[in-house]
Amino acid sequence: MSPTLTILGCGSALPTRQHFPSSQIVEMRDKQYMIDCGEGTQIRMRQMGLKVARLGHIFISHLHGDHVFGLIGLISSFGMLNRTADLHIHAAPDLEKMLQPQLDFFCEGLPFNVIFHHINPRAHELVHEDRSVEVYSIPLKHRVPSCGFLFREKARDRHIRRDMIDFYNIPTWRIPKIKQGENFEMPDGEIIPNERLTTMPEKPKSYAYCSDTAYSEKIIPIIEGVDCLYHEATFMQNEAVRAKSTMHSTAAQAATIALKANVGKLIIGHYSARYNHKNGLLNEALAVFEKTIAAEDMSVYEI
Ligand SMILES: [Zn+2]
Ligand SMILES: [Zn+2]
Repeated sequence: MSPTLTILGCGSALPTRQHFPSSQIVEMRDKQYMIDCGEGTQIRMRQMGLKVARLGHIFISHLHGDHVFGLIGLISSFGMLNRTADLHIHAAPDLEKMLQPQLDFFCEGLPFNVIFHHINPRAHELVHEDRSVEVYSIPLKHRVPSCGFLFREKARDRHIRRDMIDFYNIPTWRIPKIKQGENFEMPDGEIIPNERLTTMPEKPKSYAYCSDTAYSEKIIPIIEGVDCLYHEATFMQNEAVRAKSTMHSTAAQAATIALKANVGKLIIGHYSARYNHKNGLLNEALAVFEKTIAAEDMSVYEI
């Protein structure tokens, strides 16, 4: 299955009727990864009827309220729902300092562990890895230390050809190695080449999340060629001065980054509450980069 991105909130600091603060879920190779957890995250999950049994990791871009205020509510509800699996939170060290006292006060006897992993938002490095996905930090330019996240699928196994397995009578225990590219040796010594037994796997996908940030070309080498880029577009061009002073981006700037990094598609979000319609932002981005989509809360996009 192709990876997906579920937007729970794509507004900025002030929630509006259409847009909650930042939160999204990346679903890649049967696992779910949350990025940011603004206020209302769990409400959006409930509204969507989203099941998050495969959510084990939450990545926090930076310590502004619109990216973290949803954590305590979400964790408390996980407790009431009798979650037992560990929950890993990857964030700058100060988050643990602030969240742990809240957990101690409100979430005594939680039936699962909350495990903090400290990340350095100023470094581009591997912050998490499992069997099928790697996650890297992307240093951003914002009023407080801030980093985006780059998700890279690892190479998939080759697809086995059932008919060939039956034809050559290959025992089940040989199949995992064949999926990884091994040839098969028949009892009489004949070698059956792997290409006859398998077909090519899907190309691994990549996704980059870049919010919150001022326009920064420094991120381009890191996100070069990703299949999908989510980049903040807080303001329209007539607010470019304000974008710069608050260290946010305009829609055209987001699109310029997408164009220069040669990404497959761009999803813009983190809209300022001043805009009732996202069309102005979308049109400014489209003028620069035509493969742009304007994010909407409670929408699912293919990566
Ligand atoms: Zn923000
Ligand atoms: Zn911020």
